[in-house]
Amino acid sequence: MTDKSFIDDWQKSRKERLEGLTCANLSPLLLAKDRAALASAITLIESDSAELRDEANALIKSILHQTGGAWRIGITGVPGVGKSTFIEAFGKVLLKNGHRVAVLAIDPSSSIGGGSILGDKTRMNWLAVQDDVFIRPTPTGDVLGGVARHTRESILLCEAAGFDVIIVETVGVGQSETVVHSMVDFFLLLMLAGAGDELQGIKRGIIEMADAIVITKADGDNKVKAEEALRSYQNALHLYAQREDGWMPKVQTCSSLEGWKIDTVYQLIRSYFELTQKNGAQDLQRSEQNSSFFNDNIANLIQQDFFGNQTWKEESIKYQEKIKKGLLSPFQAAEEMYAKFKANR
Ligand code: GDP
Repeated sequence: MTDKSFIDDWQKSRKERLEGLTCANLSPLLLAKDRAALASAITLIESDSAELRDEANALIKSILHQTGGAWRIGITGVPGVGKSTFIEAFGKVLLKNGHRVAVLAIDPSSSIGGGSILGDKTRMNWLAVQDDVFIRPTPTGDVLGGVARHTRESILLCEAAGFDVIIVETVGVGQSETVVHSMVDFFLLLMLAGAGDELQGIKRGIIEMADAIVITKADGDNKVKAEEALRSYQNALHLYAQREDGWMPKVQTCSSLEGWKIDTVYQLIRSYFELTQKNGAQDLQRSEQNSSFFNDNIANLIQQDFFGNQTWKEESIKYQEKIKKGLLSPFQAAEEMYAKFKANR
């Protein structure tokens, strides 16, 4: 086959694949807990064509009434800390307790380095083939803002398809932890014993975001070091002020390979949800997250409208020239240009 005919065929099949992706086709199947429909629905919302965006929006609208019921859990930690091994072991405990589990994996490294940390290896082999499990890596050849939207919408789709625990996994790189934190209820930080915080790429802010820190690989020779790390993180967490949601962040050790204390992590997370669902903190957090996504989105749309317009693009170049020549300060330039924009609306 020539390259040209291969590309034609590929484009045709891509078109066919996307053709069936309509709200009318997918919505009833999704609500009937069909996993294949869920996978297609996520493909639809990840598509950037304007036409499919309308279908995606209609789909989200049609399933909104059946969302919100899941535990939304973010899991982060440096590559090699044991995220996929932990999720496999934790997933087993979740299934044993009657949950249906969806795992959405965000990997910003795939857009930075070209290769994917998450995709390069075989991950969660056992979990991936279980009936009540759905695993989906999020391709991020995209800016993080796009990923945030896709992942948030994917959470809703998974909830509509009857998954009651949604794990959003991310490599601790760049801003991805902050993005994940902004869309989940519970944020779990996995740490290695014995490696300094800096080595683990851990910034102070991330520890503050964590609802629990789990020290992984507490087995064999590493067990003593893990217990030492446990004590030092417990001391560090005590320095933080009492939180408004009434939760005290917890530190825990575990061994995913030996299945040791994974059940304790489950009980810990369960007690968080019991507390925050009862005292209203979960509702409050979710509504704050929604407001902040709404505000960010409005700001993005206005920005796109402004900078996507040829007149203002040219005008902005002129102002930047004036700033360069020292004729105007950046603040004056912005104010002048904005006044012109308002006058022209
Ligand atoms: P990820 O990059 O954070 O997803 O890490 P992986 O789950 O792929 O684990 C990285 C390496 O650590 C692998 O070789 C695992 O076998 C190993 N590992 C993960 N969990 C444990 C554990 O509980 N104990 C031990 N000893 N090794 C582990």
